[in-house]
Amino acid sequence: MKKISIIIPAYNEEESLSFLFERLNKITREIENYEFEILLVNDGSKDRTIEIIKEQRKQDNRISYVDLSRNFGKETAMIAGLDYAEGDAVIFMDADLQDPPELIPELIKYWEEGYDDVYARRKTRKGETFLKKFTSKMYYKILQKIAGMEIQRDTGDFRLLDRRCVNALRKLRESQRCTKSMFSWIGYKKKEVLYDREPRVAGKTKWNYLKLIDLAIDGITSFTTSPLRLATYISIPTFIILGVYFIYVIAKCFVVHMAIQAFQAIILLILFFSGIQILLFGIIGEYLGRIFVETKNRPLYLVNEYNGEKEKNEIK
Ligand code: UDP
Ligand code: MG
Repeated sequence: MKKISIIIPAYNEEESLSFLFERLNKITREIENYEFEILLVNDGSKDRTIEIIKEQRKQDNRISYVDLSRNFGKETAMIAGLDYAEGDAVIFMDADLQDPPELIPELIKYWEEGYDDVYARRKTRKGETFLKKFTSKMYYKILQKIAGMEIQRDTGDFRLLDRRCVNALRKLRESQRCTKSMFSWIGYKKKEVLYDREPRVAGKTKWNYLKLIDLAIDGITSFTTSPLRLATYISIPTFIILGVYFIYVIAKCFVVHMAIQAFQAIILLILFFSGIQILLFGIIGEYLGRIFVETKNRPLYLVNEYNGEKEKNEIK
């Protein structure tokens, strides 16, 4: 029997957990022919989350948990979940039931059809402010442009991943993680499933705008080094302005027979030296970018199939 691990990162979710277990229990008992593992990653909760999980485990041996030493953030909790999951496939889900467990049969169906990454895309987002929806939409657009890679819009972490995707993600061990862009980076056969995003069942969102901005910046900087190229780009117009102004001053000097004035000389000097400085920053940035990419130690490529057999990316 195939095993599916449902990975649920939880941070201060004592209010949601009872609803979560109830809904999960119902749906997983309805699905036949699969064994389920419900893997909770307690991300350093300060409330009774871990006690509730332990109690639940006594009643239901399908429940297991990883208890992190402190709050590492959802991204890190997710990779911990991947490291401990035993299933042939994993499903990521939030603890607050914003991702409806009722979608699980559909995710499994497409997995059985041969898709490796079946991701749920939000049709609607209830209980979220206009500002949050708008900023999230803009962010996806910008990230996609900068990264030059297709990033699934309106898609959270709610998805089913085949074992080989899990192993691929486990190879990406950088500490500033942006899992959303990693799902795109690993590739493989993807399938979209639409759903309605529910409001939280209980408790409060763990995000605030500062945290979201951090996540957005991490997302951009962990994916691409192009912001470093900014210096190179700025130096080019600086040199163009310098050139134009230089020609103007010299021409005036010869045509009108006017001596170069002190302020003109100063402007020329400022433009020249600031141009050189920005250019040098740009060069440093280019090297820094390469070092950054190399230190991530990612595998250079991932194989889909070898001699007709699916590559599972096993870690030896
Ligand atoms: N979460 C976590 N660590 C954190 C913050 C959040 O594991 O530091 C979990 C949280 O328990 C929930 C999921 O990540 O299961 C999504 O968090 P939340 O619902 O607060 O985010 P939102 O849905 O508002 O984007
Ligand atoms: Mg939520």
